[in-house]
Amino acid sequence: MRLGANLPRIGGYNELVVLQAVRQDAGISRVAIAERTGLARQTVSGLVGRLLDAGLVEAAGTEIIGRGKPRTRLRIVPSARYALGVHLDPAVATAVLLDFQGEIVDRLADAELLDADPFASTRRVAAAASALVSRNGVPPDRVVGLGVATPGPVDLATGALITPPWLSGWNGFPVRRELAARFGGEVSFDKDTTAALVGEMWLRPGSYAAGTVLFVYLGTGIGAALGAGGEIVRGAGNAGEIGHMVVDPDGPPCPCGRRGCLGVATDPAGLVAEAVEAGVLRPRPGPATPRSIDLQFAELCEAAERGAAGAVASLERVGRRVAEAVRMLVGVLDAGHVVFGGPNWQRLERYCLPACEAALARTRKRWPEPTVVRGTTAGAGVGAVGAAAMVLDERFVPRASRLHADFDADRGRALTLLTLNDVLNRFGSSGTPATKGTTPCTTIRQD
Ligand SMILES: [Zn+2]
Repeated sequence: MRLGANLPRIGGYNELVVLQAVRQDAGISRVAIAERTGLARQTVSGLVGRLLDAGLVEAAGTEIIGRGKPRTRLRIVPSARYALGVHLDPAVATAVLLDFQGEIVDRLADAELLDADPFASTRRVAAAASALVSRNGVPPDRVVGLGVATPGPVDLATGALITPPWLSGWNGFPVRRELAARFGGEVSFDKDTTAALVGEMWLRPGSYAAGTVLFVYLGTGIGAALGAGGEIVRGAGNAGEIGHMVVDPDGPPCPCGRRGCLGVATDPAGLVAEAVEAGVLRPRPGPATPRSIDLQFAELCEAAERGAAGAVASLERVGRRVAEAVRMLVGVLDAGHVVFGGPNWQRLERYCLPACEAALARTRKRWPEPTVVRGTTAGAGVGAVGAAAMVLDERFVPRASRLHADFDADRGRALTLLTLNDVLNRFGSSGTPATKGTTPCTTIRQD
């Protein structure tokens, strides 16, 4: 029977389900994994054995519960695998080396890596990424790949940027192909907002397995990413381009012909120009560059921290504008989580967070499920961390979408109506029927 050929694939999938359970809960036992995932105990034992043999997990002592025999506690081996991530932000390019646990082993931020020549830039970026591996003594064969995140929109099919702001000369540049050629390995590619959400999901395994999560990215531009049921929602590839949502009808004019679009109303370049005009900031000599704007925007935020009235008013306005966008998006999506991140998040957190909470409280006060609003776990380098996490995610996160996609490819017809639950219950791992009525993706505990 045609489907039988897919049993090893389901076994591989279940191996990732077990790996995910160990990542989510360091010290978990085989019995607890079986309870959590709904897989049969025997199946879990076999899968754990494979993960131990592969060196991805290790024993970390034992626990004794009741009069049963001691249970071995399992944890991830952080040095088992590594991934490189590069964020090509016009203000500053960042590269990170991430271990299997998601910890940053090393990081490099360099404003000089990118210029108008994309070929020379990618050469420098690939060299910088490789240097992170060699200077930390990481065996190259443990580095599973390199991820690259760029400002959106992007062309996922060709791995190219589309009219990136501030990166003249990069329009249509096939950055994935060029980096793969220089780096000499596989390269994962996506826009930075999406990468940031992948990173957030990798660092908090299982936290967004149910419901909807909205990631709002504040950097050189503003963008969003969306996750539902633990999967990234990409649309045709560029979901989350929220820059033209009107959030302030009295705001600045937008090139699209309207006023107060989120993009222009929160654009650091516009805010800096406004502050210079109002005498809050001193003008800087020379033409504006992403770097100079970033430095001036930092000055504006510092002035606000010191209590300079004009600066505070400007950033509070930004907070309200971002909150208005979040209020509308949460209304559309019924998002249970809103996560903020990006290079400017730390600077704007004190203005955006209270404004968002207030805006959501106004409209969703008595809703049964309150929306949780928070900053990303990945910190300021979320773009690069997310880029590295994309590499790990592609290989080590059990995603129903991939299982279905593989089936689709094999069978040449859509199987999207067949739920993962059906698949696992019917075929299990290595032919062992799984416990009925559970789906590994959704039985993972929320933390
Ligand atoms: Zn607009």
